[in-house]
Amino acid sequence: MNVTAVVGANWGDEGKGRMVDALGADHDIVVRFQGGGNAGHTVITPLGKFVLHLLPSGVLRPGTVNVIGAGVALDALLLEQELSALRARGLPAPELWVSDRAQLLLEHHRRLDAYEEERLGARSFGSTRTGIAPFYADKYAKVGVRVDDLFDEDRLRARLEPTLAPKNAALRVLYAQPDLELERLLAELRRAREILVPFVRDTGAYLNAALAAGRRILLEGQLGALRDPDHGIHPWVTSSSPLAGFATVGAGIPARAIGRVVAVTKAYSSCVGAGPFVTELAGNAGHELRSRGGDAGEYGATTGRPRRVGWFDAPATRYGCRVQGATEVALTGLDVLGYLDRIPICTGYDIDGSLATEFPTTRLLERAAPIYEDMPGWRTAFGDVSRFTDLPEPARAYVQRLEGLIEVPIRWVSFGPRREQLLER
Ligand code: GDP
Ligand code: MG
Repeated sequence: MNVTAVVGANWGDEGKGRMVDALGADHDIVVRFQGGGNAGHTVITPLGKFVLHLLPSGVLRPGTVNVIGAGVALDALLLEQELSALRARGLPAPELWVSDRAQLLLEHHRRLDAYEEERLGARSFGSTRTGIAPFYADKYAKVGVRVDDLFDEDRLRARLEPTLAPKNAALRVLYAQPDLELERLLAELRRAREILVPFVRDTGAYLNAALAAGRRILLEGQLGALRDPDHGIHPWVTSSSPLAGFATVGAGIPARAIGRVVAVTKAYSSCVGAGPFVTELAGNAGHELRSRGGDAGEYGATTGRPRRVGWFDAPATRYGCRVQGATEVALTGLDVLGYLDRIPICTGYDIDGSLATEFPTTRLLERAAPIYEDMPGWRTAFGDVSRFTDLPEPARAYVQRLEGLIEVPIRWVSFGPRREQLLER
């Protein structure tokens, strides 16, 4: 039971980085198992605010080992940038290992992502344009480049050459862009090899040995359950599974190793990108919640885009916790709601005149209207709190009501983005 997964119950940006940082103190190794530089995990430490993209959030705790697993979309240039940004802020170089089986996200993935979003125009996916969808398309079409491939250039050259024709046809015909050239691609891969050499290792073997030695591993998810390609709000999903069930696959450890699944959810809702969002608030109410949310308003940690915000959505979160297999919940952002007299909670959906309490497929979700109940607000800032019983009674009642609705114990309550603004119930 030495493996904990910290994963999102909703649309992403639930505060996973903050929880990985907090729980990381009790773990030896933090592993990213999927996604890539499209993540933006905010962690506030005594040294200030950090936004991590590709690096596991364990890099902010000296002594923690950090691993980028085989399931990650590995952008070597971004990795180099993030490491040098940490150095520039005075942090010691983290212990970092990169899986020899991870695949490389390359410049043409980023370009293709942006071209396709442009082509779709108003019907675009709201991608972060970091190349994630084209990367995973290549991976599952079996034409991607593995880290270990970088160490045999002749082999790499022979394998890459035939893969360029379909890409070039798309570049030319769909996007009116110049062809990819093999020599330029190889030069890019040589540069990636230079960056990665000190970190490459068989991380599966490393992690399994660590488990056998009783070391504690934390698996850090990116995005949230509702962005899962199978169980999320398809097609408004991401291209790799952010579920705890996939975490062991992306990390390369046995499924039975996971003992604890911490699903992170906010005390309200936020969502970046397109897709149905039933409790979304428009106008002034949305503007107010957005400006009070997060550590400095709800704006995308990677893109700076204003996040869509709304009230807590119980059917969505109960479902998110279920598909994550949550054993406990971390509720973040409770402090944000302190300005309200009454706080609406969505307890069900009205779909064509019928009540739905199960989270439906996207086709039906697009027709859902929220059914709300109101809870009294507490109209106060929390100040110094260390125990749940220190919170005002209406805030405790709000947490208890959410717990009843999502059917998973809320073990952690976060009431601010800083390390000390977290309590265990
Ligand atoms: P992640 O992608 O799940 O790691 O979440 P993000 O870092 O993208 O977004 C979460 C935002 O909420 C960040 O701005 C955090 O600093 C902030 N945050 C986390 N926990 C709390 C909390 O309890 N209260 C407040 N006000 N902000 C929080
Ligand atoms: Mg984020």
